[in-house]
Amino acid sequence: MGHPLLDLKDKTAVVIGGTSGIGLALARGLAQAGANVVPTGRREELVRKAASEIQAVGRRSLAQTCDVTDIASIERLRESLCREFGSVQVLVNCAGRTKKMPTLDFPESEWDAIFETNLKGTLRACRVFGRHMIERRYGRIINIGSLSSLVGLFEVAAYGASKAAVASLTKTLAIEWAPHGVCVNALVPGVLRTDLNAALLDGTERGKEFLLRTPMRRFGKLEELVGAAVFLASDAASFVTGHLLVVDGGILASGVNQ
Ligand code: NDP
Repeated sequence: MGHPLLDLKDKTAVVIGGTSGIGLALARGLAQAGANVVPTGRREELVRKAASEIQAVGRRSLAQTCDVTDIASIERLRESLCREFGSVQVLVNCAGRTKKMPTLDFPESEWDAIFETNLKGTLRACRVFGRHMIERRYGRIINIGSLSSLVGLFEVAAYGASKAAVASLTKTLAIEWAPHGVCVNALVPGVLRTDLNAALLDGTERGKEFLLRTPMRRFGKLEELVGAAVFLASDAASFVTGHLLVVDGGILASGVNQ
């Protein structure tokens, strides 16, 4: 048996952007740690599949789509969760999009779309579920940052600015909601190969540079983020808030690697 403080049984978690890549891996991991988990996103087919994966682990779930650009869909999701589970203790904000292009050519509409999802989507979900958690004086919110929350990455200005803003929002909400029992932290993954970035990494100079800059000399595996998320979702993290938990194989620590 694991440590009792890390046990998530009796907790209900919603993972927005939980039907693919990092979010799906975190949803599975939270379920394995004992939580009922509702993984959601826009595509209904993926939502149904992810919910049945949670049920296959032996936990409860429900299948309902959600689009973080549409606050009414987040409110409907919260209502369904409350009907089904009574309350929600854990929110993971994993919906994200990116685009690589020289900043001078970057369409403003694309800039806005990235901010709508990455920053304002995170804000909307934090507000909808944060209010619920504050009323119950207990909550754990895990936002997903990025290396670009902390350092510049070539030709992804909108993504980087949105993720730096997510880090800032995380800290601001942490101090605002700390007196109400709601901890707000961010998980900062290094480089993991997913649908989001496969084309940017596979066989590219950028992919090679990331590997050179990673002291562990490999991309992360999705499962390697699970321990950090379970910790932040758990009672073990009761005095942890406003923190950016970096899981990156050493990239941010490294200067020269050879
Ligand atoms: P994926 O593309 O594999 O997954 C993205 C998930 O978000 C899907 O479930 C998608 O489902 C959902 N999603 C996208 N837009 C919305 C929306 N508007 N509303 C609700 N859900 C949405 O990407 P990753 O797993 O790679 O990325 C997840 C997060 O991790 C992102 O925030 C990303 O920035 C971050 N990240 C990724 C890194 C990596 O190396 N891969 C590194 C650092 C951070 P659907 O399209 O059906 O809505």
